[in-house]
Amino acid sequence: MTDVIPGKPVVARFCPSPTGNPHVGMARTALFSWAFARHHGGRFVFRIEDTDASRDSQESYDLLVDVMRWLGLDWDEGVEVGGDNGPYRQSERMDVYADVAQRLLEAGLAYKAYDSAEELEERRDAARAAGRPSGYDGLHRDLTPEQQAAYEAEGRKPVIRFKMPEKDWTFDDLVRGPITFGADNVQDFVIVRANGQPLYTLTNPTDDALMGITHVLRGEDILSSTPRQIALYEAFAQIGVGDGSTPRFGHLPYVTGAGNRKLSKRDPESNLLGYREQGFLPEGLLNYLALLGWSLDAERDVFSLAEMVEAFEIGRVNPNPARFDLDKCEAINGDHIRRLPVEDVAQRLVPYLATAGLVNEPASEEEEALVAAATPLVHERIAKLTEAVDMLRFLFIDEHDFSVDEADAAKNLDEKGRETARAARDALEAVETWDTESIEAALRASLVDGLGLKPRLAFGPVRVAVTGSRISPPLFESLELLGRSRTLARLSAAL
Ligand code: GLU
Repeated sequence: MTDVIPGKPVVARFCPSPTGNPHVGMARTALFSWAFARHHGGRFVFRIEDTDASRDSQESYDLLVDVMRWLGLDWDEGVEVGGDNGPYRQSERMDVYADVAQRLLEAGLAYKAYDSAEELEERRDAARAAGRPSGYDGLHRDLTPEQQAAYEAEGRKPVIRFKMPEKDWTFDDLVRGPITFGADNVQDFVIVRANGQPLYTLTNPTDDALMGITHVLRGEDILSSTPRQIALYEAFAQIGVGDGSTPRFGHLPYVTGAGNRKLSKRDPESNLLGYREQGFLPEGLLNYLALLGWSLDAERDVFSLAEMVEAFEIGRVNPNPARFDLDKCEAINGDHIRRLPVEDVAQRLVPYLATAGLVNEPASEEEEALVAAATPLVHERIAKLTEAVDMLRFLFIDEHDFSVDEADAAKNLDEKGRETARAARDALEAVETWDTESIEAALRASLVDGLGLKPRLAFGPVRVAVTGSRISPPLFESLELLGRSRTLARLSAAL
């Protein structure tokens, strides 16, 4: 079977719940759905599954929108941008779900069930003990109006259950191929709670049907709900919700973390915002997320989003769990930083320097010029933008806030080191033109030729005194950018 129907445009969607911080697994799902839609020249819908007011938050919604924009996964239809099938927040569509539930009831495809929690539990335990399936036993499937009235008179509030047709459920998963669930494994399920709240098993198929979604890509964790979703589509075809077709489903592999455990929302490396804070580029992060289950080809790990879109085939997604490897993620991000023009890196660095309090917000022209001049010194050396902030801090910091790393000072600015620093200061004081070549020439003449030091021993004390750390961008260039008076002042302070 082909993945797409010729002549029928692809419509894919992403519909996260706004709970907590956006996480890596979510972003991977969004990316694959988006790339699938774009590869096929289709549409991408961004909808929000906020049907549970006790868990959902506006803050989390805002973060989701923000992070999708940051990643550059644009949507044709959905929250914030609107579209013909809105609204796109499920909390604003409650009347739609109530209407669909009512029509399912009227068509005899769903029914009210009045079982209490204790009754359900008792029967479940008994079924388990007898080795029968422990899902709902269908006891209230065929209540008479009189029986219903009697329960209502007791003050019981019913849930609405969908009547699961008794048959095996087979579908051709876009990632996994044919999958069958036996009839015994899928019982009548709740679509509306007793308090009137619809469950995602109802809301998502309803919206997918009404929004013309043709392909549902989602996590493997909800694979077991798919037969129920498909049964609902078949019911929708009978009551005229949507165009009567059932979307294709593809279940994306688990992402595992350390020790091959499933990566959980609570693992620090799953917090998407953390990557932005650390200065991952969206390009780098997306590239790495793409590798969680997919690859461009055997030779290339590093590619652009456009290259991914061009090559993305859902059938090539690997169904096996994908291990999240932070080192690899950083390495790929570093590659993307090196691929960017240096001016671009400089521009992206500015907000990180501002967050660190090192430049103003907005940055002044002078500050921007210094960032532009300094970025070439770190461009090839960093895997994330915050590393550049650390390396360049010495250039931007207020002189009275400047301090030298104590451990580095202890090693490099002992008596011998201070002697070296003094010689360096004297040599630099005499430099006529303050540029990299003259600085280098003066320091070599004084420390290497004059004091007979090996270069590492010669320059270490200068580096620590002036940049505050043993790890810095190239020394002579750094001194040029820092300027003569600050350089000399720091060397004097170190003595
Ligand atoms: N909000 C669900 C999730 O992100 C989506 C469920 C679905 O795709 O049907 O897991």
